[in-house]
Amino acid sequence: RAQAEGAMRYRFYAPDLDAAARSQLALQSELRTAFINNEFVLEFQPILDGWSLEICGFEALVRWQHPQRGLLAPDAFIGQLEPLGLVEALDIWVLEQACNCARKWQRPDREALTVAVNVSAYSFQRRSFPDMIHALLERTGLAAACLEIEIIESIALGHPEHAALSIDRLRDLGVRVMLDDFGTGFSSLKHLRQLPFDGLKIDHSFVVDVLIDPRDAAIVRAMLSLAHSLGLEVVAEGIETAAQLAWFQSAGCDRLQGFHFHRSMSQDAVIDLLRLGEPAVASRQMPVS
Ligand code: C2E
Ligand code: MG
Ligand code: MG
Ligand code: MG
Repeated sequence: RAQAEGAMRYRFYAPDLDAAARSQLALQSELRTAFINNEFVLEFQPILDGWSLEICGFEALVRWQHPQRGLLAPDAFIGQLEPLGLVEALDIWVLEQACNCARKWQRPDREALTVAVNVSAYSFQRRSFPDMIHALLERTGLAAACLEIEIIESIALGHPEHAALSIDRLRDLGVRVMLDDFGTGFSSLKHLRQLPFDGLKIDHSFVVDVLIDPRDAAIVRAMLSLAHSLGLEVVAEGIETAAQLAWFQSAGCDRLQGFHFHRSMSQDAVIDLLRLGEPAVASRQMPVS
């Protein structure tokens, strides 16, 4: 009977599996073309200072302008790059674009703006990664202090000693390294102890719960105090409401990011938001004395 059931199940699922495999193959061949046709676009989401609520930088977020399906979010395609051997190609493209854009945001009369780039575990684990970043900064002319690398904790699972070495070398260059999606992983605290991060980003799943569940609020307060006592900066991502903003601001969170402030936007929209089109002098109200 089990065998009969197995056979039925096979007959039932086989067409689905086939369809799934076929659409995956199609996606992969479209992805290869995407590189050739330059179909990736980079958007930027503002990150605000927790005290002044002024924009202090942007996170670069990749999208795929699919010829038929429109703008696709990274979760829809990033996972398919690995079997194609194209993970590093995307990371390098994103880094190059992000640094070139960020260089254009800088003005001598205002604070430097940072760009945060998500780097896959695969690229980060390459021994040549810090050298590649060094060369990239030279090539694009972006100050190292303006670049932030965001990595998720799976980078530490393989070789934590090696990851620590890479982070050290990046920090020697003056680049900052942040632990992304903090709290969602398996052993976030262990990685915080082992690896010399500059800061962490509290995952937005915590942000949602902070106003609903007092125990989540206690956990986030503990995260903030732990991070600060280790000298780490904290960014809260996924702030969607004024109440969440108020909570994180009063909890002393260093930087804030989320739809409540801005969604991700094109490079042109960044330029407009920063009023970079206007001449530096004309944009100031000169006091007449
Ligand atoms: P992440 O690094 O944690 O990025 C934050 C994600 O949260 C972004 O989704 C952003 O649009 C979204 N988000 C920001 N504010 C809010 C909010 O207030 N509410 C909600 N619900 N969501 C918010 P996105 O752009 O879909 O990116 C998803 C993930 O894909 C990123 O998570 C990151 O891990 C990865 N990713 C994005 N760009 C790149 C890239 O260039 N390279 C690599 N390797 N991964 C990337
Ligand atoms: Mg990120
Ligand atoms: Mg995150
Ligand atoms: Mg994420």
